[in-house]
Amino acid sequence: MKSLLLYLSGSEGFKRFLTRFKSFNKVTRRFVAGEELEEAVEAIRELNRQSISASFDHLGESIKVESETEEEVREYLRVFDRINENALDSNASIKLTQLGLDIDRELCYRNVRAVVEAAGRYNNFVRIDMEDSPRTDSTIEIFSRLRREFDNVGIVIQSYLYRSEKDIESLLEMGARIRLCKGAYNEPDSAAFPDKADTDANYIRLMQTLLGSGIYHAIATHDEKMISATRQFAAERGIGPDRFEFQMLYGVRRDLQEQLVAEGYRMRVYVPYGRFWYPYFMRRLAERPANLWFVLKNVLKG
Ligand SMILES: Cc1cc2nc3c(=O)[nH]c(=O)nc-3n(C[C@H](O)[C@H](O)[C@H](O)COP(=O)(O)OP(=O)(O)OC[C@H]3O[C@@H](n4cnc5c(N)ncnc54)[C@H](O)[C@@H]3O)c2cc1C
Repeated sequence: MKSLLLYLSGSEGFKRFLTRFKSFNKVTRRFVAGEELEEAVEAIRELNRQSISASFDHLGESIKVESETEEEVREYLRVFDRINENALDSNASIKLTQLGLDIDRELCYRNVRAVVEAAGRYNNFVRIDMEDSPRTDSTIEIFSRLRREFDNVGIVIQSYLYRSEKDIESLLEMGARIRLCKGAYNEPDSAAFPDKADTDANYIRLMQTLLGSGIYHAIATHDEKMISATRQFAAERGIGPDRFEFQMLYGVRRDLQEQLVAEGYRMRVYVPYGRFWYPYFMRRLAERPANLWFVLKNVLKG
């Protein structure tokens, strides 16, 4: 089921089929703040009211036209303006294929640099999301170039990849701020652990390396076992709750988000918005096929 949903996340035909149902578009709102920037601003205001920080994510990936990547840069400049005007507690997350990675690496570098520089003017931060494994090397390379010039940029590492331990070692040498997640793409066995138990065990090892590094990192997961392991490790090492943050996705485990905040942990929620919500939405369904029944039930209810 998971592989099928990940496969369908790339299918335009299936998207057209689903979006014919008005009720389907409504259901997507559980995971996506809306199509417009203002809707994301509103969602983030509400999160901030609950003492939860946020990260704007303008949905878009695999862009193949240069002018569209420049439009994405302008959107992110608007995002930082809106954060500033509204005094929001939020940064932004970007994807390199949204900013030209599949067109030309230099174009992508220039685009990301413009976003990171703009964020820097507001003393804000840009997280570079990690996409599928054919793009890991180029993502790390572009991040490393930017890191030499800026300290308000961070990267993501996925515990399902065999290579992640080594990548973390070299990233920590350059003082990188890392978001640790399990990984959301359909990867071959040659690149990623086929067995979820190995991904989870690796997550815990990598979390310990990150927290032990003294740098401010993000532990992104909804998995209660990963969260308890993090809390336990931090307590044993005397690492205070202000030395790292938990991160979760918009609409996922809101109960756990609130609980961790009430217990004094930092929580940041990743808030996606925009017209190109389909692949993101399908990856969320793949993570928890039980969500599929929630979607179908609501679509059929009309
Ligand atoms: C802030 C943030 C940023 C991320 N950035 C990236 C990135 O840059 N690159 C990347 O590849 N991946 C990214 N991910 C996705 C990540 O890799 C996982 O696919 C996703 O978080 C699910 O893994 P999990 O750690 O929650 O554990 P899982 O083992 O998948 O889930 C554990 C439990 O969490 C709950 N849960 C998980 N997902 C859902 C869901 N969709 N709906 C409802 N309940 C759910 C369920 O109770 C489930 O049993 C990000 C995740 C977060 C939270």
